[in-house]
Amino acid sequence: MYEEGKKLDFSDDRKKRVAKLKKLIMALVITLIAIPTILCIVLVVKLFILQDKVDNILDNRDKVENTTEYIGETTGNVEEGYTDSQTGSESQESQEQSSEEQTTEEQTTEEQTTETPSTEPLPDGKYAYLTFDDGPSANTMSILDILDNYGVKATFFVNGHTGSVMEERYKAIVDRGHAIGIHTFSHDYDNVYGGLDKFEEEIVSLRKYILEVTGKDTTLFRFPGGSSNTIADDIKPYIQWLNDNGYSYWDWNCSSGDATGKKITAEEIVANCMVQADAGYKNLVILMHDLRPKESTVEALPALIEALQARGYEIRAIDERSTLVQHRKLQ
Ligand SMILES: [Zn+2]
Repeated sequence: MYEEGKKLDFSDDRKKRVAKLKKLIMALVITLIAIPTILCIVLVVKLFILQDKVDNILDNRDKVENTTEYIGETTGNVEEGYTDSQTGSESQESQEQSSEEQTTEEQTTEEQTTETPSTEPLPDGKYAYLTFDDGPSANTMSILDILDNYGVKATFFVNGHTGSVMEERYKAIVDRGHAIGIHTFSHDYDNVYGGLDKFEEEIVSLRKYILEVTGKDTTLFRFPGGSSNTIADDIKPYIQWLNDNGYSYWDWNCSSGDATGKKITAEEIVANCMVQADAGYKNLVILMHDLRPKESTVEALPALIEALQARGYEIRAIDERSTLVQHRKLQ
């Protein structure tokens, strides 16, 4: 009895120890599986948070860049409105209309100094010019495809973007029959308006670059912020330089509003452009942007082209036959 009891005790004890050991091994296995799994989950969550942060930073950077651009270019428009109000016009629309009429009147003399008067002026009609600033960008090809779909030509006032992908985009703009113009190499206001030497370098270097990449020598120019920008202390020497060196500079009389910091919808862009169209402008130069975050510009394009054509506009690329639109001129 005693021995059996001892044996029983011994076997119980062993069973307990084995069970304990099993539990220990199980716990170890579970721990070994759980730790990497938890780590993986934590890392994935962190990755998403970081991706979010990167997106936000990129978004904010674009907003800052575009707001600067918008402030410059819009201030230009507003300033122009005030200047024209000296002619006595009351409403903003008539101010802009009067601005356009002045532009048309003065255009003949301007053109003689800026463009070779080789071709006849366009017959009487309604003309609209879609102009895209700041490109090329990841949007360029989509814009070109839409323009091709409608068989219309536009004008791209580009900046200096290097690299083979960008070079393909410059080439596509020219090869597909659109006008290309200079919008300065850097678009950096401090440099562009930091004196005539810098201004000249910004233009000549980009002109050379465009010629090398596309084979097209262009003398079309658009001031960053427009000729009525408030960043340059005095725009006149810059205008004088352009006139003396055979460039024609183009502002706009219709802003699509696509460079506003806030997200603008495609419908709003079309509506903005229709303000002047419905006011009866016969020569419409529309400011738009070829910039990556501006998806609504691309989205708005088919409806915009259709709306312009429905109002009888012929959509053209800027050339020597087009009527100049300039906010500031030398008298
Ligand atoms: Zn610009």
